[in-house]
Amino acid sequence: MRELELLPVWRQRESRKAQAEAPASVPQVQVAKQVISHYADTDLPPLSTTLAQGRADAIKQMDWQSLQDCVANCEACALSKTRTQTVFGVGDPNAEWLLVGEAPGAEEDRKGEPFVGQAGKLLDNMLAAIALKRGQNVYIANVLKCRPPENRDPHGEEVTQCDPFLKRQVELIKPKLIIALGKFAAQSLLGSDKTIAALRGKLHDYHGVPVIVTYHPAYLLRTLADKAKAWEDLCFARNSMQALQLAARPQSNELSLPE
Ligand code: URA
Repeated sequence: MRELELLPVWRQRESRKAQAEAPASVPQVQVAKQVISHYADTDLPPLSTTLAQGRADAIKQMDWQSLQDCVANCEACALSKTRTQTVFGVGDPNAEWLLVGEAPGAEEDRKGEPFVGQAGKLLDNMLAAIALKRGQNVYIANVLKCRPPENRDPHGEEVTQCDPFLKRQVELIKPKLIIALGKFAAQSLLGSDKTIAALRGKLHDYHGVPVIVTYHPAYLLRTLADKAKAWEDLCFARNSMQALQLAARPQSNELSLPE
């Protein structure tokens, strides 16, 4: 046998045999039904809540690279089927300024960068008005990382799924100030249903980071009359940033003891 290169003799293992004779495995649908009915019979929170919490907890642990990879491969909502690519954000990941828009449009979906269309040009001019530049101490992101088809309003479920990504971006960037661009970003960040008019001119809070609300650049392109109000918001933002930078400086009135 050895000379014929037929050793060792191969025999089917017991466990394999047993497996072969075992009844066909339980279909996954059945398992899922059992899990769902188990959850229904307990006082545990609904399964969807538990799964969403698990996902959010996992995202909370991610570093910048893992977060980027996770967004790029995300299939948590139906927008993954219609997008060309995800739009994570652009700029300095250590920026003091974070600007948050609604969702990518057609051009952003093609290029993979937020605010690259007409609204983006206006946004760049708005930044220049307060001596800022895209990418230099500024990060730009959206509430949604995928384009809603035909630029329709984002659905609640899409926001729920995407929310942990923006939250983690904010935790990692640690901006001093967030500017919410437009009603949708403002309402999502602040968990509010108030109008822009009611939200402007105040310092709000997003998980400990101050937030200022202003008009969306796309809206300003259509409504020139409100550009003056947007300018007021930018001045308010610039002054608030100066105050925040000052407040973060180490106290200079400490006595230095002689050696
Ligand atoms: N509008 C947004 O809110 N975000 C973009 O990235 C582009 C347009």
